[in-house]
Amino acid sequence: MESLHIYNTLTKQKEKFEPINPPNVGFYSCGPTVYNIPHLGNVRTFMAFDVMYRYLKHIGYKVKYVRNITDVGHMTNSAGIEADSIGDLAKAESVDPMQIVQKYTCAFHDLMRVFNIQPPDIEPTATGHIVEQIDMVEAIIKNGYAYEKNGSVYFDVPKFAKAYDYGKLSGRNIDEQQEGYRELDAQDEKNDPRDFAIWKDCDETYLQRYTSPWGKGVPGWHLECSVMSTKYLGQRFDIHGGGMDLKFPHHDCEIAQNIGAGEGEPVKYWVHTNMLTMNGKKMSKSLGNSIFPDELISGENDLMDKGFSPMVIRFFMLQSHYSSEFDLSNDALLAAEKGYKRLMNAQVSLNKLTHTEANTDTAEDEAVQQLCAQCNHKMNDDFNTAQTLAVLFELANKINAYTNKQSDVSKLSATTFQLLQTTFNTFVTDILGLQPEEEGNQEVVNGLMQLIIDIRAEARTKKDWGTSDKIRDDLNKLNILIKDGEETTWTYE
Ligand code: AMP
Ligand code: ZN
Repeated sequence: MESLHIYNTLTKQKEKFEPINPPNVGFYSCGPTVYNIPHLGNVRTFMAFDVMYRYLKHIGYKVKYVRNITDVGHMTNSAGIEADSIGDLAKAESVDPMQIVQKYTCAFHDLMRVFNIQPPDIEPTATGHIVEQIDMVEAIIKNGYAYEKNGSVYFDVPKFAKAYDYGKLSGRNIDEQQEGYRELDAQDEKNDPRDFAIWKDCDETYLQRYTSPWGKGVPGWHLECSVMSTKYLGQRFDIHGGGMDLKFPHHDCEIAQNIGAGEGEPVKYWVHTNMLTMNGKKMSKSLGNSIFPDELISGENDLMDKGFSPMVIRFFMLQSHYSSEFDLSNDALLAAEKGYKRLMNAQVSLNKLTHTEANTDTAEDEAVQQLCAQCNHKMNDDFNTAQTLAVLFELANKINAYTNKQSDVSKLSATTFQLLQTTFNTFVTDILGLQPEEEGNQEVVNGLMQLIIDIRAEARTKKDWGTSDKIRDDLNKLNILIKDGEETTWTYE
């Protein structure tokens, strides 16, 4: 069987995927920081990893997918400035930081469900792994790659860089790296401006702080991922994902910490998603150009003409390869809506088609077989969802032709017809995670209700009050109210 190839951002090459311990695959992706609702750019990244997770399972791997929740940590925001995001919000709202964490963790989970993004196998939290993080800081100090100053512990970048290729993942040279660290208040206590905090001293103004051998403080943000990935996946694991903006400093620091702790290089394949942009600029909270999922779904925003359903948005995102940048616009979403409906209609038609006899036409039969094989082939090429969708559209053309009788489905052998049904359904539903819209169900409900209302009207014309009342009363029990008037209507309360 053809193998999966993944673009490894560490080696900057597309490589054959060979897991360390097949059929097991260890997969880690950086999760959300839970102090606000993720924007659509974040959703794109989590969705890309969802499709990878689904596909790896589909091709037979036993995947352990770990995606963390960042619920504490000494962070720098996208401008490289220190921020205590969760604590600051808790203070502003006069609540406990864990209330902020709980609220936004729930909101994140709700959002993942709306977009049909599967939950990971393990979802560890930074607050739940303070002990392990302290252990790693101690190991790094013991190995001579970190030093303590005034209750904080800093990673010694120049010393590490003498022995290892620091910044290898992002490709930044050591002098450029200073840009990532503008932690102004701590600059004078570091031995070198490039050093980064792995433990940060916190005074009583910080609402989240933990006891450590260096006094009360919090772990550095990069540390949690080093700790939680290897705790659950082993010191060397297969895939680590995140958005491209995390390559530096977050992921380069992760590598340095794992090596500094004496564990060696943690990751075989690094995978980075590209950015969702709006009007050509990276969507980001700090740039103020982020659009939130509920605004896009409801249509309550200044940028789009109308709302778009979660499945249309999912389809839209899968139309681009995860490693390309792509832009959110009204026109692109309108086009995606048409494409999504065409694909889902083809699926409905396919599942209604019957294949009673075969009058096999070899050319047609082989064409369909080849298209089915292409679906795997495209996904094996670094999870190319864009091209997989293009092949599914070619199959949709065939399905429509069989349905409209422009072509005869009996041209396919029974085996090929079965292959077509299995492949189309598996790729659309299980791998790409596209589901019929709620709207579709609503159409069925409306149709059924009209049928019931018609039957009741007929009973009433025949003065069959028993049947007519039974229908009304039984519907009432289901909270469906029938209102008789010029036209009979119904409401669900
Ligand atoms: P955060 O909660 O800010 O740490 O972000 C969660 C994930 O979303 C990370 O993997 C980020 O790299 C990713 N991300 C942030 N902005 C974008 C964007 N505009 N497009 C795609 N992914 C993004
Ligand atoms: Zn991370």
